[in-house]
Formats: sequence, structure tokens, C-alpha cells
Amino acid sequence: MHWAGRLDTLGTEQAYLVLAAARRLEAAGHKVVHLEIGEPDMPTPPHVVEAGVRALRDGLTRYALAAGVPELRDAIARSLAARGVRAGPENVIVTPGAKPMLFCAALALIERGDEVLTPDPGFPIYESVARFAGGRPVYYPLDETRAFAPRVEAIAERITPRTRLLILNLPHNPTGGVAEPQDLARLAELARRHDLWVISDEVYGQIRYDGSRDSIAALPGMAERTVIVDGFSKGYSMTGWRLGYGIMPARLAEPMTTLVINNVSCTATFVQHAGLAALTGSQEPVTRMVSGLRAKRDLLVRGLNAIDGVSCATPVGAFYCFPDIGGALERTGLSCESFAERLLAEQHVAVLAGTAFGPGGTGHLRLCYATEPAELERALAGIRAFVHALAPVSA
Ligand code: PLP
Repeated sequence: MHWAGRLDTLGTEQAYLVLAAARRLEAAGHKVVHLEIGEPDMPTPPHVVEAGVRALRDGLTRYALAAGVPELRDAIARSLAARGVRAGPENVIVTPGAKPMLFCAALALIERGDEVLTPDPGFPIYESVARFAGGRPVYYPLDETRAFAPRVEAIAERITPRTRLLILNLPHNPTGGVAEPQDLARLAELARRHDLWVISDEVYGQIRYDGSRDSIAALPGMAERTVIVDGFSKGYSMTGWRLGYGIMPARLAEPMTTLVINNVSCTATFVQHAGLAALTGSQEPVTRMVSGLRAKRDLLVRGLNAIDGVSCATPVGAFYCFPDIGGALERTGLSCESFAERLLAEQHVAVLAGTAFGPGGTGHLRLCYATEPAELERALAGIRAFVHALAPVSA
């Protein structure tokens, strides 16, 4: 029996493969430091859990409206003011996570043969869904010398008459990079001039260490050509609840709702009520998490920069750092993939090779620092020991 060829175009996330390898080590009795999976380490805030449980007890267990529970759509629309975006509930569609919205947006916007500008390194699902939708991903590089801000010139150079869509992810996975306001304005100008759609993945928007909150959709003429992809997984530590949303022009929201009806029907009703509590309740747990993450970021970046052959930019957002280990690799002749594999096998530290995020990740690792400081110290000790034990390549 054959299945449809389009399945062969799908890529995946290496994080799940490395997690499986780490779990095998744990099953064999080893203690593993997990820096591979990207999720916050704080529990879901108790008032959010309570709202979800209350909704279940109150019988909110039936189908919701396809585009989302009206109160939640309303609260999401109001919450956008924090990033300067004016939206009403007619612009909001709720989905079970940000990923399904990304998938829907790709299917809704990409025609066969369209070129889709995607960051390299970048979240591997962009390339995967762009291909699945019939498009051709075109990588654009980031500027490591400016903590991985997008390089506007490099994006401009890659625009052709076939370019249809620019994917932005700010703050960025895997580097934690953000865009300066002037870069965002120049990107908006490019999108307007070349009549591009923009998918702006803002799932890490609440996790910024410079106190800023922005969105390209807030800039003149951009709300009508932007789909913001966002969700509750990262900012509210709700990865397992599966709750996300898209913000888009109302005229696109209508066919997009039909796509959602064909796909998931709706998002779990009680989960949406938990999300409503997250948005409308105290934001103190988020603030506390971000200040804890800042200390963890500083600990890890300092420790990495003290290792011979490793250099790490200080990320401005998200909870990842993306050290350049080129110096260590050069001395030993290893690739970043074999470095990551052996680091797990020999020191029981699980990280991702930079190339899990595209060819632009060559010579790098991605480490998620949303874990206990003691675990970060163990990871640093493991990386240090691993680098020191590596035999230099003979000249
Ligand atoms: N976008 C980016 C950049 C991510 O890193 C992730 C999760 O790792 C997602 C989207 C998916 O988020 P969700 O859990 O809401 O589907």
C-alpha cells in the first residue's frame, strides 16, 4: 500500500529524537541533564489550573465555536494592545497550540511554487510546512554579531517575483534573537513594497529581557498582510494544554475558520477557559519566570564563554542560547552533530546540534536553559569535561 507522496515532504523536530535517546539512557539508570526540549520549567500558574478544573466541573466539555470561545477571543484581542496591535475578536482564531495555526496559515497563504523566506537557523517546522503546502523555502541568514537579529539586507536580496511570504520569529528559536525597531520598520517596508504576506511567530513574545514588546503587525499597513502566530505554551507554561491562536485580517479569518472546521473542529472548551484566566488574571507568575530565566541565561552564557573554543552571544529573548563551538570542533575534527551525540552518550548532557535548525546552525549547539541552576552547572561541567577530554587533531 502507498501513502500520499506529500507526506515525504514533511520535516520534523530533532528535539523529540534526542529526548527519546536521553530517555533510553535514563531507563538504563543514568541521570541525564535535559537541555534539549524547549519548554518552561515553572508549573502552570495555579489560578489557571483552577480555572481549567472549574470549567470541567461546570460541564464546559462540549464543542466550542470553531473560531474560539467568544470571551477568550475578546481577551486575546485586547491583550494585543501590549504590543501595539489593534485587533477585535473578528481577527482572532483559537487553535490547539500555536503549531496548528502555523500549519493552517501555511496552507492558507502558500500557492504551489511560491517562495517562502524562512530564517536559517530557524524553527524546522517553518520549512516543513512551507514545503508541505507546495512552496519553496528560501533561507535567510541572521546576524550573529548582533545577537542573531535578522539581516534586513540579506532578506531584501532574496526577494524575487515568486516571493509570497516572509516568516519572522521574534524572539527567535533557536537563538533568542530579536529585531531592533528600525529593522522591524525596514522589514515592514519590504513587505509592503513587494506585497508580501508575513507570518510573525511571536510565541516567545512575553519572554524578553529588555522589557520590550513589539510586533511587525503594529506598523502602518501591516495588520492587513500579517498573520500573528502565538499561544500560551511558553509564556504561561501551558505546553501540554495545547492552546494557541492566530491574529489576521478579518477577511482571511473567515476561510481560515473553515480550515479549522475541516481540521480540528474547535479547541477544547475547558482549556480555553483556562487560557482566559491566564490572560485576565495576575501576570506575576510570568514576570517571576522571566526574571528567573534571566539569571539562568546569565549563568549559562558566562559558563559557556569560559570554555576554550566556545563563544556565546547573550540572547535578548526566549529561553535558548546558541553557542558557537567552532573553536572546539576545529581542534577535534568533530561536527556539531557528533559533538552533541557524544556529549549525551559520554557526559549525559542532552542538547541539540545547531544543524537541527538548518545549515546556518553549523558549528553551534542549542541549549534550553529553562531548568534548575544546579542542572545548568552540571551541564557546564559535562561540556567542560567533554571539551577537555577531546584529543586535538594532529597537524
Ligand atoms: N513556534 C516556535 C518558534 C516554537 O519554538 C514552538 C514550540 O517549540 C511553537 C511555535 C509551537 O508552540 P505550541 O506549543 O503552542 O504549538
